[in-house]
Amino acid sequence: MKTIGLLGGMSWESTQVYYRELNRRVNQALGGLHSVPVVMVSVDFQPIERLMQQGEWQPISQILKNHCLNLQQAGAQCIGIATNTMHKLVPQFESQLSIPLVHIADSVAKNLMAQGSKKIGLLGTSFTMQEDFYKTKLAHYGVETLVPQKKDQGIINQVIFDELCQGQLKPRSKQAYLQVIEKLQQQGADAVVLACTEIGLLIKPTDTQIPLLDATEAHINDLVTFALSDHQ
Ligand code: GLU
Repeated sequence: MKTIGLLGGMSWESTQVYYRELNRRVNQALGGLHSVPVVMVSVDFQPIERLMQQGEWQPISQILKNHCLNLQQAGAQCIGIATNTMHKLVPQFESQLSIPLVHIADSVAKNLMAQGSKKIGLLGTSFTMQEDFYKTKLAHYGVETLVPQKKDQGIINQVIFDELCQGQLKPRSKQAYLQVIEKLQQQGADAVVLACTEIGLLIKPTDTQIPLLDATEAHINDLVTFALSDHQ
């Protein structure tokens, strides 16, 4: 089996899902005592989040690059960054890695294509919803992206940082999210992408009629496929 390099801690609430599900799925495929070979770095998110809010992306890029190189040095054969937002910085350092980086938006796009989605609603941090790095990636696959209106973006973003990243799952926030999802459907979205690794902790596919695609799930599946790709 191949070794996965996992860069987590952004936040640790969703990194636990990655660690658990990578192992669970590999064990499901291979049985017995099999589990996934993984090397992992988990950061302290607080100082990084402060830099994000200050718009200081260059130092964050440096930190992420160094961690990816350390994972590579430690024997990782691919990199998985367990957050959507930080993929904004991937183009700045990906070429300096000699192992593949499994990009979360590629995982999402491949699933959207498989289910025939052409126009999706995107939920994530303000950075993910407002900037182009995620939408452009999806557009490459022929998928058009709708984002919530400004006020709703603020609610979605605030719940991510003030609640979900701190392990708080509130019914009131779940209702607010479901209302935004409904509006996106009314605007013509044929599916909604949960493009923040914590949203799947709050919202489940059974909560709504519109198809939901959880980026975390799609990403984990691709990482498992990579790990198993040389298995005899
Ligand atoms: N985990 C989140 C994401 O998937 C938000 C926290 C972060 O900005 O890294 O975007």
